[in-house]
Amino acid sequence: MAEFCVQCYNRINQEKTYPSDYILSFCPELCEGCGKYKRVIISRTPYWDNRFLFFNIIYEIFLLIRELFVYFYNRKNK
Ligand SMILES: [Zn+2]
Repeated sequence: MAEFCVQCYNRINQEKTYPSDYILSFCPELCEGCGKYKRVIISRTPYWDNRFLFFNIIYEIFLLIRELFVYFYNRKNK
């Protein structure tokens, strides 16, 4: 999956998005649009998450913990 930062994502898709519309990566990653290390969009928030904000927060925490695991796992194995 191509990874883009918020600015590039909006430019490519020609749409206005809001912070609640997507989930950003915890660590900076290479944006394929501008080639800079920025927090990229992991996924779009499913439409029903706006109605169930509590679940959205839980999901965000889950993604964050998962990224932390990946981050420390990669550090350990260098
Ligand atoms: Zn970018």
